[in-house]
Order: sequence, then structure tokens, then C-alpha cells
Amino acid sequence: MEKKKKDIRALTKDQLRDFFVDLGDKPFRGNQVYEWLWQKSAHSFEAMTNISKETRQLLEDHFVINHIQVDQMQRSSDGTIKNAVRLHDGLVVESVLIPTSTRTTACVSSQVGCSLDCRFCATSRLKRMRNLNPDEIYDQVVAIDSESRLYFNRPLSNIVFMGMGEPLMNYNNVLKAIEKITSPEGLGMSPKRITLSTSGVPKMIRKMADESVKFKLAVSLHSAIDEIRTSIMPFNATFPLKDLRAALEYWYSKTKSRITYEYVVWEGINDTAKDVAALVDFCKFAPSKVNLIEYNPIDDGEFKQASSEAIDMYVSILEKNGITVTVRRSRGKDIDAACGQLANKS
Ligand code: SAH
Repeated sequence: MEKKKKDIRALTKDQLRDFFVDLGDKPFRGNQVYEWLWQKSAHSFEAMTNISKETRQLLEDHFVINHIQVDQMQRSSDGTIKNAVRLHDGLVVESVLIPTSTRTTACVSSQVGCSLDCRFCATSRLKRMRNLNPDEIYDQVVAIDSESRLYFNRPLSNIVFMGMGEPLMNYNNVLKAIEKITSPEGLGMSPKRITLSTSGVPKMIRKMADESVKFKLAVSLHSAIDEIRTSIMPFNATFPLKDLRAALEYWYSKTKSRITYEYVVWEGINDTAKDVAALVDFCKFAPSKVNLIEYNPIDDGEFKQASSEAIDMYVSILEKNGITVTVRRSRGKDIDAACGQLANKS
């Protein structure tokens, strides 16, 4: 039986250098190959033109490059692009390019499916199949960067971990991917242009704080009242608001980095003055920003976007309390690319 070949991008640079040294070659060969794998994002050993034919064959005999493949690309009337991304084992995730006049943002997935159970989110209907590897996250970013250059004549400027999955439930791989994205040996992007969005896993928020990460944090809050939050995000019963808040206080004490809250206002769920008061109380321990996101209906109408009066009430009370607030319009709705709509429909 043929030995299963190893994914070469699971190797660190040192391991790759050692591989060559063990074969009597120079460690420098490892650097060259590493550069092809990450900075130049080679899809095959064959593409590594400054490596001898024999060495390429050697690599071929030992390793595979499990590069992602963009199977299908859909373009929205507003310029948003959604990619259906096929992984080496045939599973599919989605990633989105969101253009504005000044930036291009990549919205990337961190898991196939999701283990959380947010009742308003289409991805939660897919069961979690597996975590993405660091290279599979990295490749999504590279693919969107190429699309940005091709269609908008500029490189990618920002990355948000707001695609499929809960990044803090795939912590190690997400951090390894970010490390490659920000490293000069990878894409060299500033961590300040990266936002990790989480439903709030307190233990992992503390871990991130301890590791002094430099990217930004966004929390999908949607309600600052336990009973309500649990009814729409059932895992809140396991990670109640007081634990989330304590973890966020710890995050702020360590990083001094402002926290963004994502928040949808739904009719009859969280659209009263009492809900806003709880939100104000929840986020006043640190400089905060609230993004009021438009609801993207995913099915039968159990959830309905609140009235514009309710949204205006949120805005005025939050502003009165010195909390920055923005009202976000959805992008890419016509191709099911907006927040909460990623579900591999096509
Ligand atoms: N699991 C992470 C990453 C997903 S981010 C997290 O929860 O933060 C996707 C964002 O879209 C989250 O803020 C999520 O709460 C929000 N969202 C999910 N379904 C939505 C929907 N139908 N309409 C609008 N926003 C939605």
C-alpha cells in the first residue's frame, strides 16, 4: 500500500529545513520551498521553478500541497463576491469579498459548519464537520486578495473571521493562520486590519489576552439579558453573560483594545428600552463600539428585523452614553453572502 503523503504545509520552517539537511542538502533549500508554499502560494511542486527537477520529484514523493479550490464564484449586484471553496477532502466552505470605496474586506470561514446553535444563523443548521487547517484559512485570504487585485485593482485591506464557524472553537489553527497572514514570510498584513468575531467563549478570550494578540475582537452579543440571549443563542446557558463579561474585562485590562459588539435588533425579542439599558450596562466597563447589523432572514420568518424606530432608540441611547454606534447595511444579500447566510446552498 502506498504510504499516505504528508501535507507539506503542516511543517514549520525549521522542520522543512531539517528535512533537507537530513537528505544531505542545504537548510537554505528549506527556506526556498517555504517561500513558495506561503509567500508565493504555490499550488504545485512543479511551480517551484528555482528548485531542481530532482528535488521537486523528491518533494512530490513525500508530500502533498492540499490547496483549496474555488469551485464557484458568485457576484452580487453590489459588487460582493462569494466563493464556494472546495477543500482537499471534498468538503465545501464559503468565503466572501466585500468591497467598499476605500477597502476590500475578506470574510473567511474557520470551520466546516458550526458547533454553535444560534437560532437566527443559517450556518448553525449545518452540523460541524471539522475544523479548518491553518493553510485552508490562509488560502481563502490569498484567493480573495487575488480577486481584489483582479476586479478592483487593489490588494485586500481587511480580514474578518465572520464566515462559517466559531473561530475560538478552532483556536490553534486560527492563530496559526493569522500568524502566517501577518508574517513578512506570508502576506505581511497588519494585525490591526484583522478582526476575530466570536459568540463569546470566555476561556479562550482570556487565553487570547494572555497571548497578547494584536488583532481586534468583535463579540456577537445580540442581547445583554441572559434569559433572552439563551433563547436565541442556547450555548449562552453554558457561557452566561457574567462569565463573558469578566473575560472581556480581562481582555481589555491586558490589551487596552476596544471591543466591538455585533448586535441585531429583532421585533419582539430585544427591541425595548430595557434591552438597550442592559446593553449600555454590559459594555460600559471599556471603550466599546456597537455595530447594529441588519437582519438577513434565513427562513420562515420566526425572526423579524425591528422597526426603524427601535433602531433609532438604540442609536440615541447608546450615543447618549458615550458608546460608538454604527448601523450596518447588509452586503451581498442577493447571493446569500450576507451575515448569517453562509450555508453552501448552491
Ligand atoms: N461564530 C462567530 C463568527 C460568525 S460571524 C460569531 O458568532 O461571531 C457572523 C456574524 O453574523 C455574527 O455576529 C452573527 O451573530 C451574525 N449573524 C448570524 N446570523 C445572522 C443573520 N441571519 N442576520 C444577521 N446577522 C447574523
